Amino acid sequence: MLNIVLFGPPGAGKGTQSEILIKDYNLIHLSTGDILRQEINNETELGLKAKQLMDKGILVPNNVVIGMINSQLNNNLAVNGFIFDGFPRTTEQAVALDNLLKKKNTSISAMISLKVDDHELIKRLLERGKSSGRPDDQSKEIISNRINEYNIKTAPLKSFYDKQKRLYEVNGLGSIDDIKNRINTVINNL
Ligand code: AMP
Repeated sequence: MLNIVLFGPPGAGKGTQSEILIKDYNLIHLSTGDILRQEINNETELGLKAKQLMDKGILVPNNVVIGMINSQLNNNLAVNGFIFDGFPRTTEQAVALDNLLKKKNTSISAMISLKVDDHELIKRLLERGKSSGRPDDQSKEIISNRINEYNIKTAPLKSFYDKQKRLYEVNGLGSIDDIKNRINTVINNL
């Protein structure tokens, strides 16, 4: 199986590149942000609780997202592999993911980390906010909270995967096609 953690701060292009990768490599896209937004749209209890945190740019509890990924893995047996987008975001989530995959006799093939500076991230997210309608893309303050959460809780995961020799850093600036080609080069050399 090919299991990729597509990593990077909010606005790095994980969602955009995931959509391309799933077609090129025939993978399943698992975005915890998308699944949570679906729960919000369906007005489930989980969605209503998560919305209060998401609208402020704060991470939802680990057990919530780990449970969601567990059921997605169980619902998608016998597939080529997965792109994990926006998950894991904490060390606890990364350890849980390793354990879940181990039970399925597979593992993470690579963490591909997209590198984009804060100035560009804020610009991209405010621009996306005009069409996405996402409450957490609407103000600089919420976007800063999201970037802070990333720096404090999520960025340390790079060293978690680096220690396991599974970290690949990719320049996330340039055209969608340029970035796609850089990611493809990493995957094709795994
Ligand atoms: P995203 O679509 O990945 O930018 O996620 C939007 C929001 O959903 C985040 O700001 C968090 O509040 C929540 N979220 C998504 N994925 C996770 C995760 N793996 N752990 C905790 N919170 C998450």
